[in-house]
Amino acid sequence: TTAELTKLDQQHFTHPWTVFDVFHQQGALPISRGDGCYIEDSNGRRYLDAVGGLWCTNIGLGRTEMADAIAQQCRELAFANPFVDMTNVPATLLAAKLAELAPGDLDHVIFTCGGSTAVDSSYRLIQYYQNCRGKPEKKHIISRKNSYHGSTYLSMSIGGKAGDHPPEFDFIRDTIHHISCPNYYRAPQGLNEAQYLQFLLDELEHTILRLGPDKVAAFYAEPVLGAGGVIVPPQGYHQGTFAICQKYDVLYVSDEVVTAFGRLGQWFASKDVFGFEPDIIIGAKGLTSGYQPLGACIYSDRIHQVISQPGHGRCFAHGFTYSGHPVACAAALKNIEIIQREQLLQRVQQLGPYFQQQMKTLEDLPIVGQVRGMQLMVCVENVRCKKTKQLFDEELDIGKRIADHAESLGLIVRPIVHLNVMSPPLTISRSQIDDIVATLRKAIELTINDLYA
Ligand code: PLP
Repeated sequence: TTAELTKLDQQHFTHPWTVFDVFHQQGALPISRGDGCYIEDSNGRRYLDAVGGLWCTNIGLGRTEMADAIAQQCRELAFANPFVDMTNVPATLLAAKLAELAPGDLDHVIFTCGGSTAVDSSYRLIQYYQNCRGKPEKKHIISRKNSYHGSTYLSMSIGGKAGDHPPEFDFIRDTIHHISCPNYYRAPQGLNEAQYLQFLLDELEHTILRLGPDKVAAFYAEPVLGAGGVIVPPQGYHQGTFAICQKYDVLYVSDEVVTAFGRLGQWFASKDVFGFEPDIIIGAKGLTSGYQPLGACIYSDRIHQVISQPGHGRCFAHGFTYSGHPVACAAALKNIEIIQREQLLQRVQQLGPYFQQQMKTLEDLPIVGQVRGMQLMVCVENVRCKKTKQLFDEELDIGKRIADHAESLGLIVRPIVHLNVMSPPLTISRSQIDDIVATLRKAIELTINDLYA
């Protein structure tokens, strides 16, 4: 029964980011089916999943074609040793496909088990590259406050969300440096957008100069910050930061775990949305639409030329048992085929502006400070006072209160402290968008009633 399942789950499954007090009281909602943009709990109740799982179910759930491709690959070859003297067909084909889709000379792929391990792999690659060039001192990383890059020791240290750096954990602090999050809504007062952009660019340049360009290896950035609250930087930010990185020989790592594979209407947002060609792109999530765990660190031929120089005889000592897992790669190939065949990038380009525009209508509610986003990524920032942008006390858990009301009305939205974020499947329809907006409005109104009744 559902009650038995909930109890077993509470006893044995330690979920990501568990707040134990709440978990012991409420348990987790057992989800047993998924179909398109909907999920169903074990009592048979359906929910419109506006979060797309966790920014990942891009083609929607329940695709027989995906199940068949995965089953077929399991039957044919469920595993092959990925070390260099063996390979497997889906991994080879997927690496070639990613090289074709990725911008510029990003022609080489390290496969991992997810986004965090792809971020870790990118830094191993960078260290190896700097050593091969005779620049081992070039090992410092610059990233942004409020960014999210994963949950391993390294990727969490690169991330800059204050709540992800609680005192009980250790983090790498001596070589990782966090600069401002490019959030104009919370910019220092009195700066117009152009001045704010200049402030951000100056800060990056000064940080590189303070540390010493011969010490700084890489700049890590999400094109649009996801878990930090869907923050779209001021226009010109990426091109500006990229130019500074180039000037000081700093590699640009674009973490596209959320933004790639159609979420912003392109395969990769770096080049096709923001107009720059990073040295490394990190992908995961939409790569398989969540049907299999898989991540990819896609890197440039310029880096490859250096690490693979003939005759130096060294080994890039890095990799996993499941690097290039044939079943995960087969799922990714089928997923990409579906995105292509159903023209889902074009669909996002058409429906994304409608989603943003409809969501914006929520700004008339008294606690909605800002609705922001791009294409099929959106965030509602809830505030106590719209004029001063003052936040609610954290203990009030305003985002979760809204998400709980939404869930009871049949809609899943993700709470992040005072925010609610959404990233529905790319197959979402206009009427489902209307449902999301109407239901979320109701959930926010119910929350306002609770707070002020
Ligand atoms: N990078 C970004 C931008 C992410 O949003 C995430 C996960 O949400 C990660 C990395 C980590 O990916 P994973 O959870 O697959 O390890």
